[in-house]
Formats: sequence, C-alpha cells, structure tokens
Amino acid sequence: MRALIEELGEICGSAQVLTKPSEMETYATDWKRSVKGNPVCVVRPASTQEVALVVRACRRYQVAIVPQGGNTGLAAGATPSPKGGDVVVSLVRLNQIRSIDPLAMTVEVEAGAILQTVKEKVETYGRLLPVGIAAEGSATIGGIVSTNAGGISVLRYGMTRALVLGLEVVLADGTIVDGLRHLRKDNSGYDWKQLFIGAEGTLGIVTAAVLRLVPRPRGSVTAFLSVPDVDAAARLFSLSQELVGDALSTFELISQTSVALVEKHVGLRSPIAAGGWYLLVEAASSLSGLEQAMETMLGKALEDGLAVDGVVAASGQQVQSIWSLREHITEAEARHGESLKHDISIPIGRMSDFLVEAGEAVTAICPQADFNIFGHLGDGNLHYNVLLNGGQEHEAVNRAVHDVVVLYRGSISAEHGIGQYRLKEWLRTKPETEQKLARAIKQVLDRDCMMNPGKLLPLNPG
Ligand SMILES: Cc1cc2nc3c(=O)[nH]c(=O)nc-3n(C[C@H](O)[C@H](O)[C@H](O)COP(=O)(O)OP(=O)(O)OC[C@H]3O[C@@H](n4cnc5c(N)ncnc54)[C@H](O)[C@@H]3O)c2cc1C
Repeated sequence: MRALIEELGEICGSAQVLTKPSEMETYATDWKRSVKGNPVCVVRPASTQEVALVVRACRRYQVAIVPQGGNTGLAAGATPSPKGGDVVVSLVRLNQIRSIDPLAMTVEVEAGAILQTVKEKVETYGRLLPVGIAAEGSATIGGIVSTNAGGISVLRYGMTRALVLGLEVVLADGTIVDGLRHLRKDNSGYDWKQLFIGAEGTLGIVTAAVLRLVPRPRGSVTAFLSVPDVDAAARLFSLSQELVGDALSTFELISQTSVALVEKHVGLRSPIAAGGWYLLVEAASSLSGLEQAMETMLGKALEDGLAVDGVVAASGQQVQSIWSLREHITEAEARHGESLKHDISIPIGRMSDFLVEAGEAVTAICPQADFNIFGHLGDGNLHYNVLLNGGQEHEAVNRAVHDVVVLYRGSISAEHGIGQYRLKEWLRTKPETEQKLARAIKQVLDRDCMMNPGKLLPLNPG
C-alpha cells in the first residue's frame, strides 16, 4: 500500500494523504460512533481532476473507495470497513460555489461545500436552497445529493432529488462525466443523474451539482397544536392544505412521549395543554394573509374537535422555543437510554392503523418498550424510535417494525438511506425483482465493486 499512498501524495500533495490513526479517527468513525473503520488512508483531493486521478490510482491497486462528505450520515454509509483495506476519499476541499444565477434561480456548487454555507450565500441573492436538516452546518452538497436528503422542507419543495438539475460525477473507472446543465427542461435521453442521487457513493463520486433555488419567502408563521390522536392529525393536515394552501411548508407530528422526554431531560416546556400528540405547523410566503389563514385553521380545528389546544407564535422568540422542543427530541432520547431507531414511511392515510399494529408487534416482543415517535407527518415519514427500557431484543424488534412497514407498503428507510446499518433488513425486505435491478445497475457502473462496497448492496452483489 506504500506505493499507492505515495501516488496519492503526488496527485493531491502528501499533506492531503492522512495515514496516522489519530488523524484518520474522525473520518473512520460514523456519526453515531457505532461503526469504526480501518482505512489504508484518507485522501483529500481539491479538484475534479484530482478526484479522477485518485480513482484511477485506487483502481490500479484494486483498492476500494469510500466517498465522504461531512460524515453526518445516519446509516454509516461513509464509514470505511472495520476489516480495513479501503481508502476514504474526502471531498471537503472541493468546496467552491462556482456560480449563483438569481434569474434562472440556480446554484452551481462543488461537492464538498457545506450546505449551510451555500444556503447563506444564496440568501444574499433573495433565494432559498430548500433543504433543511439539523446537520446542515456540517453536511455537504455531495452528501445531501448522495443520500437524497429530506428534512423539514420536503412537504413543499420535495427531497433533494427534486432540486438537482445537473451533476458532475467521476465514474468508477475515473471518467469525468460533465452533466452540469442549468436546465429545468431536458428530455434529451436517459436522465442518468437520477442514478447517482441517493446512491450513497456506490456508483461513482459526485464532484459538483447544479441545484434549483426558489424565491426566499419574506414571511412565515408557526403554530403548535395538541391533537387527540393520529387520525385527527391526518384530518388536520388535510384542513391545513385547504386553508393555508401551498404556503404550508412543515407539518411535523410529535408524540406525547417525545415532549415528555424533552421536558424531563432538557428542561424545556410545552406552551400548550397536552393532547395525545402534538403538531408543529409552519407556512411561509411573500404574500400577506398568512397569519390570518393559520389562525382560521387553528380556530376551525378547535371548533371541530380536531385540536385540543393550540397557539400561533406571536414572536420570533416563541417560534424559536417551539422549534427548540422539536430539535431537542433526539438529545432527550439519548439521555433517556438505549433506543432502536427506525426511519420509516407509510402512506399518510394508514398511519394510525400502522401505529397500532406496529406497537402491538413490538410490545409482544419487548413488553417494557416505550415509543418515541416523531417526524414529518406531511411526508408520511416517521422516526419510530423504540425505547428499550432495559430490553435486549434488538433484532427481533427491528424485524417486527419493518415487517409491519412492509405490510403497509411503506419504506424501511424514508430519508437516511441504507448504508451499513440497514443492509441486512434491505436484503430481507426488498422484493427480489427490485434487488435484481439494483444489482444490474451496479454491474453496469461499477462491475468490480470499487465504489463503497458493502453499503446499500452486499460486498459481492453478484
Ligand atoms: C443531527 C442530524 C440530523 C439529521 N437530519 C436529517 C434529516 O432531517 N433528513 C435527512 O435526510 N438526513 C438527516 N441527517 C442525515 C445526514 O445529515 C444527511 O444524510 C446528509 O445528507 C449527509 O451529508 P454528509 O455530507 O455528511 O454525507 P456523509 O455522511 O459524508 O455521506 C453520506 C453518504 O453519501 C456518500 N457520499 C458523500 N459525499 C459523496 C460524494 N461527493 N459522492 C458520492 N457519494 C458521497 C457517502 O459515501 C455515504 O454513503 C441528519 C444527521 C444528523 C447528524
């Protein structure tokens, strides 16, 4: 491996090839700190050309590549193998914003640019890059493209996929494909870029992207409601769409347990009386009348018995404290103790039945379990986290939850991807015909399994 390390040093500069365990530690460990890899080295190219040369060198030495951005992924997709022998290609130095076009509403940006930095920059042009995730201070453009990240703006603007107009990628053989078009309409053949969006680095390396921007809304209004049950929440979603219209940007469901955890472990307080569940609803627009529409929605919800209590935030500080409750759920859960996280999606109309059935299935296996459930109800996406309270039935609980997900024709990974964490369950639950298609795509683009092996597909996908 010494020869490869030397060659990588010649391509990127020896200071950009890290080999000491202490230097590689943060690149080799996943965000949850539950998988630790053992890479040959970490290399940090600074241009698309350098990435291509790095890929060709690794290929010559038959060494697998693990592309990495901010390493905030929640599926250990960017974490090298514990068995060792692979090279982490970190894109963090490839981080230029190449151009912003406020008229065409596009930004062309390199893969390693930090999401928050890009968002702040486009905002100075009165534009918004509508991807909102709590990790945006570290997550990169290449990472959000490669995981097809979701977050709190999906309801209105779609997943990252809906924002990608063009991509530049380095293929597994080192070829650079320049598809950096700034076009909203382009039906000139297969839309190949879609294959790389959400591919978790298994088909090639994304080096740059053209993303669609939207006008930055000048106003927003936030409401917090308690509702008796999930059926009422779903009906309220429909009512909100009717009364608030397409300004509706966020519709988050939060369980009573989630709020209780935040109250107990973080010390924050809910501003309203409890129901069975809570909703955080937000709308944004540059037009007037937004606050009135939200007040009307709240009034009607209370009148019809869909809501138990509710408040429309009257100040920036109130908005912040409502969001703070939502954003501290994960931290409160961690302080409570061990939990099993599931990032699932279910057709919204079947959510209530799903919760009953999944709850029964889990309790049958782990009677002391509790449920910290929250997520993006408007997208049918729930973070269905089982608090084990001392229980040890990890695998059985995971399987039970996913079996009910499959029964409801849902997805075992709504937004976090498959990576290493969910590979076993993907193999168990994904229909064979779809697995075959995935393997066929891999075969065409990365026949020798150089790109992120063991993630999303097994080590030898066949
Ligand atoms: C606190 C917190 C909150 C989060 N909230 C959300 C959320 O609401 N919604 C959501 O969807 N996700 C969320 N995430 C997950 C994570 O932030 C996203 O998946 C993010 O898109 C990952 O970006 P990254 O640059 O850190 O990618 P990494 O973690 O570095 O990589 C993720 C995957 O993409 C691949 N990859 C990275 N860069 C490239 C590239 N240039 N070319 C090819 N492959 C590449 C990696 O190999 C890996 O498989 C959250 C994470 C944290 C820690």
